[in-house]
Amino acid sequence: MAAMIRKVGVIGSGQMGNGIAHVAALAGFDVVLNDLSSDQLKSAMAIINSNLSRQVSKKIITEDARDKALAHIGQAESLDGLADCDLVIETAVEKEEVKRKIFHALCAVLKPEAIIASNTSSISITRLASSTDRPERFIGIHFMNPVPLMELVELIRGIATDDATFDAAKAFVGRLGKQIAVSEDFPAFIVNRILLPMINEAIYTLYEGVGNVEAIDAAMRLGAHHPMGPLELADFIGLDTCLSIMQVLHEGLADSKYRPCPLLVKYVEAGWLGRKSQRGFYDYRGEKPVPTR
Ligand code: NAD
Repeated sequence: MAAMIRKVGVIGSGQMGNGIAHVAALAGFDVVLNDLSSDQLKSAMAIINSNLSRQVSKKIITEDARDKALAHIGQAESLDGLADCDLVIETAVEKEEVKRKIFHALCAVLKPEAIIASNTSSISITRLASSTDRPERFIGIHFMNPVPLMELVELIRGIATDDATFDAAKAFVGRLGKQIAVSEDFPAFIVNRILLPMINEAIYTLYEGVGNVEAIDAAMRLGAHHPMGPLELADFIGLDTCLSIMQVLHEGLADSKYRPCPLLVKYVEAGWLGRKSQRGFYDYRGEKPVPTR
């Protein structure tokens, strides 16, 4: 029997965390959103409000549904505020040591029967589970960006994940109105195992001067019917996240075909992380995005 999930904690209120809080609250779950500071939480709440309001103006949801969803979201600056959640989804930065520290602190306060999930894009669920006190109640619930729009969620079992946890996660995702794809616990799972090498190759194509930013994106939009060019998409995902995923693939599969492009490394070192820092392969500070190469 799947455990009943009513209250959901979300650790990290960045682009993924605010999206997960949005869809969970809209589906009627009580949500507690956590981040490092009240400023981060305030800006996440403003984004959720504006995304819900956009859905109202597009007649996807009613004003009443938006107001109810907002009322379902509480905020917690400390993990203590998540103690009575039935499910906690960690979606902080893609750094294993950060996630491990979070799990360590979380396990000290979270009720023992609660399920812990990570939204990691690439890190081993089995390894993350081993940093908790409950590997059998640990699972990968990997949402796609932007969460309110994308239909798919990958579910990844660690070696110890039990059936009740898998069933509860599956039921939770179903209540959000999303489809699941079940992936084995190998680096970057299914979607990113395929998507990120393509993005990395697009960056190599730029690095080697085969085409400029505009040509590469137009080529894949018009020539392969991708809704977004790969460099636009990299900016959308976040170049730091893209680099972390390539590093996990490179280290985890020990194959040189996953070598992160040095140009990607350079952009990240510059702090040009894509849309979230207003500059990446495009500069977003003006009215229209302008290619930076
Ligand atoms: P982001 O940079 O937008 O947000 C990360 C948030 O985590 C920030 O608000 C940060 O302040 C917060 N944070 C950092 N350390 C924290 C801590 N110790 N406690 C609480 N909060 C903390 O990143 P994102 O794009 O939302 O990615 C988050 C996770 O989701 C990563 O693991 C990433 O791999 C995964 N993911 C990202 C995408 C994507 O397209 N961006 C898609 C699927 C999964």
